[in-house]
Amino acid sequence: MIKFTLSKAQAAYRDYQHQLALEEMRPISLLCDSQEEIPETFFWNMQRRLSAEALAPLHAQLAPEPRQSNLLSMLANEEMAWGDAALSTALPGPGLAAPPLLSQGTPEQQKRFFARYQDGQLHWGALALTEPGIGSDVAGMETTAVLDGDEWVLNGRKQYITNGARADLVIVFATIDKQLGRDGIRPFVVPKETPGMLVGRIEKKMGLRASQTAELLFEQCRIPRDHLLAGRETSKKAGFKAAMGTLDATRPMVGSLALGIARAAYELTCEWVKDELPLGYPAHKRRELLSELEELRQELEMARLLVWRAAWMADQRLPNSKEASMCKAYAGNLVMKVTASAVRITAPGQESERRRFLQKWFRDAKVFDIFEGTAQIQRLVIARRLFPEVDIP
Ligand SMILES: Cc1cc2nc3c(=O)[nH]c(=O)nc-3n(C[C@H](O)[C@H](O)[C@H](O)COP(=O)(O)OP(=O)(O)OC[C@H]3O[C@@H](n4cnc5c(N)ncnc54)[C@H](O)[C@@H]3O)c2cc1C
Repeated sequence: MIKFTLSKAQAAYRDYQHQLALEEMRPISLLCDSQEEIPETFFWNMQRRLSAEALAPLHAQLAPEPRQSNLLSMLANEEMAWGDAALSTALPGPGLAAPPLLSQGTPEQQKRFFARYQDGQLHWGALALTEPGIGSDVAGMETTAVLDGDEWVLNGRKQYITNGARADLVIVFATIDKQLGRDGIRPFVVPKETPGMLVGRIEKKMGLRASQTAELLFEQCRIPRDHLLAGRETSKKAGFKAAMGTLDATRPMVGSLALGIARAAYELTCEWVKDELPLGYPAHKRRELLSELEELRQELEMARLLVWRAAWMADQRLPNSKEASMCKAYAGNLVMKVTASAVRITAPGQESERRRFLQKWFRDAKVFDIFEGTAQIQRLVIARRLFPEVDIP
């Protein structure tokens, strides 16, 4: 059966997240952006309002519908990014550490590592794949993991790590044998307190300025042997698959965040047209403007369908690499288009809070074309799936 509408319970869940975005994020959004900082009260408020207790009534309503966790996180992400995408990347919880732990960790590892997120304190997680010399192609990974007795010893440098400096657990991808290329890559869990894991530079960015992007250094960093996820010491391809499997889960998340910003910019532009369109705006330009807005509206709805499809497939445990890349590529491109149109359309307006939000979202949009795989890389992934018989290097 194909359903294109949300159930009453799913809509209530989305509305709850929207309220959070409206009350907790929008009021501090511009200040956090200009100061590149987030007040601690925000983290505590969000932790309280997203706690199992606070969500219990909604979860009770959702319970009869099986397998919807990916779809629910897409609904939440769209609303959170509508509120503020930078703040939504900084929410307390395992964050980007969760997908590899869930897909690659044994039940025992999941229990052990997720336990620290359940003590009521503020904790974060991070995923460290990118290095100064590698981003899109992980084959040349330089960070090494060498087994020494009952410990792994990590050495190397990771960059652009979201929440890297505040994460309690970092999933670090490292190679156990450089000669093996991609096949040598493995995921390791490194807790914050581990000697030898050091925080380096915190990036100054054009967009998502309140989101923390850190460099992490590993210098003779020793972790217990059982911190290798799933214990895949010998299985070839396991590590690369883990890295790629993580991306299949996180790309739709990025797509839904991009969609949230794009929708916010679209809505504010529509409000500007209703309230602030200058008197005497020529009729032919008004017609053009409304047709541009209509086209953007269509594209927003297309992006949402692509995001929901990728999430639905993940919920049904169907392989979704192609669909995850499609929704990420489409929404990542659309958010740049919508925010650029919004800034241009409202340009005759006075400097106002509305305009400041649109300018911020225009800056925030660019990174959605870059992280979790650039647009060019998404095209490669999609092309390889569509044309398996053609050798695409
Ligand atoms: C704000 C922010 C947060 C981030 N958070 C994280 C994080 O939490 N964890 C993490 O591990 N990483 C993170 N990243 C890193 C991000 O995932 C990488 O920047 C991204 O994968 C691109 O890698 P790169 O920067 O090395 O660019 P490169 O891979 O060097 O790409 C440069 C250019 O070459 C193109 N290109 C590369 N290879 C090909 C090819 N085969 N065919 C065609 N074109 C190609 C790319 O599309 C791009 O245009 C973050 C980045 C940013 C900006």
